[in-house]
Amino acid sequence: MSKQAVPRAPGVEASPHDSGVSLVGGHPVLDFANTVAWRLDPVRTVDRVRGAGAWARWAVAAGLLTAGRAEALLRAETADSTPSDTATAALIDLRAVLWPVLDALVDDQEPPAAEWEALRRNMVLAREDAVLPPAFPLRWQPGTDRLDDLRHALVLRTEDLLSGDGLCRVRRCEGPGCGWFFLDRSRSGTRRWCSSQDCGNRDRARRHYSRTRQRGASRASAAGPHP
Ligand SMILES: [Zn+2]
Repeated sequence: MSKQAVPRAPGVEASPHDSGVSLVGGHPVLDFANTVAWRLDPVRTVDRVRGAGAWARWAVAAGLLTAGRAEALLRAETADSTPSDTATAALIDLRAVLWPVLDALVDDQEPPAAEWEALRRNMVLAREDAVLPPAFPLRWQPGTDRLDDLRHALVLRTEDLLSGDGLCRVRRCEGPGCGWFFLDRSRSGTRRWCSSQDCGNRDRARRHYSRTRQRGASRASAAGPHP
């Protein structure tokens, strides 16, 4: 995967795509899916969260762990005989499962069978591992001790997202190559961009450039050929 810098269109500010943690999704599961920037552009695709420490920091930023729990988790991962690479690989696998499922949701398609089954297995494991405090409303509570617990927490939140009121508000950014998901909380329900300062701005710059070129071409053809 290339991490080659791409020149910005004129007038486009620093992008959340360049940031280590971007929370444009408005939901932890969508922000988790968005931890890869430019998902739909193989030339620019870049994974923004690498390694156990980066995942712990991401979980704090996404509101899934407190800073104290993240530190404890990293200490436990360091002391654990099982390499944290296994847990980070499982997180990355879950993310790869979520992409086609969320794409299918946005495209109003049936979710792909293999990924759906992988999600089902993840849900069974997450519930098996979670505790169920004796209180109402009934709520599964994942642990916070291991990176695997972070995966289980994300799986349980995925179940909430895909069965709750937010389902019809999940969108995918229309920016070419972007592929980020977000919850459209706008009153009109017509949000198109992950960020109006990013893909929205690129689109405005693109349209402005196209109009300017068209005007230039019209003027050139009106002036006619040079003698
Ligand atoms: Zn975008």
